[in-house]
Amino acid sequence: MKINFEQEKIFEEPIIFHLVVTAKCQGKCKGCINTFYVAFYGGEPLLELDKILKVKKILDSYYNFKYIIYTNGLLLRNFIKFKEEVLDFKFIIVSIDGKEKQHNMVRPKIDYKKNLS
Ligand code: SF4
Repeated sequence: MKINFEQEKIFEEPIIFHLVVTAKCQGKCKGCINTFYVAFYGGEPLLELDKILKVKKILDSYYNFKYIIYTNGLLLRNFIKFKEEVLDFKFIIVSIDGKEKQHNMVRPKIDYKKNLS
């Protein structure tokens, strides 16, 4: 099936496809190998913090997963209040668009100094 993405521009949110091309890595860092990760993406996943915590709680009952979250940083303060849960997040990746001036130009609602420092 062929999708005409120009015609499909009916969503207000971006449609994001994540392609994991390999799970291999030459780093072999301690704490990473032989670990199963669950990554939370969005949009902005922290808009659904309750869902994240519920899903994490369910997954934790099955296995000692490690977690990754990709965030724009705006709600990071809400997230880090959940200290116990946050400790299971091996990577908290905050997206920044270059230096302060460029970032604020590209992301006018996410002030670099106010929200990310
Ligand atoms: S933490 Fe894991 S994925 Fe990252 S460099 Fe180390 S081994 Fe590779």
